[in-house]
Amino acid sequence: MYGALKLADKFRIEPLRDTILAYIREDWPLTLQSWDEREALYSRRLKTSLGSTTMDDVAPEPASVIRLARKFEPRILAVAFYHLARLPVNATYGQHNQAPRHARGVRGHLLSPADRESAALGRERMMRWITDRVEALMLDTWTCTADEGCHTHIFWRVVVLHRSIMRSMDVLTTLRSMRSHKVERGTSEVVEDAVCKECNGRWDQILNDARRDFFDSLPSFFPDL
Ligand SMILES: [Zn+2]
Repeated sequence: MYGALKLADKFRIEPLRDTILAYIREDWPLTLQSWDEREALYSRRLKTSLGSTTMDDVAPEPASVIRLARKFEPRILAVAFYHLARLPVNATYGQHNQAPRHARGVRGHLLSPADRESAALGRERMMRWITDRVEALMLDTWTCTADEGCHTHIFWRVVVLHRSIMRSMDVLTTLRSMRSHKVERGTSEVVEDAVCKECNGRWDQILNDARRDFFDSLPSFFPDL
């Protein structure tokens, strides 16, 4: 893709260049809603494909798009780096013999030392951001207006939230899966506990707001975009 794009640019074949860039923009969207739709699409593709297919076969790879984005479309760098930063540092593209099918890889040889440093710094900043956000919400002093003892369940949700983020390094996916209502069939987990309707509504609003603010903050996590 990078080679074709460079040729189209060099020889000023604008329609071809624009077509390629349109596909890339679709894969790396600039809004949270579109991002969620793409993630759901990759999951559906994997689910409906043969057992030997891995996520790398049906979803885009970050290192090649970062190289391309620096030259042709810097706006998508933030989401590309987000995806890179949530992956294990040693995630290798297309080599998932030991990994689950949904694991995604990186063409590490395409990353510069500066790219790796940006991803590492971004990962640190994202973890601090979500920790500060949860702390500022003071969820440990949750009050249930229906007096149904929801605060204990909310406390445990916060524990699970932190644990999931530490394990996955994936703030957006964790915040989505921790919502109390199953809004996207097949892509979201239901939190099974006894929280009243009003508290669930408040909890979901808090997570939705955090997701939106986190997504909007992505460019600030990674230096030199
Ligand atoms: Zn309640």
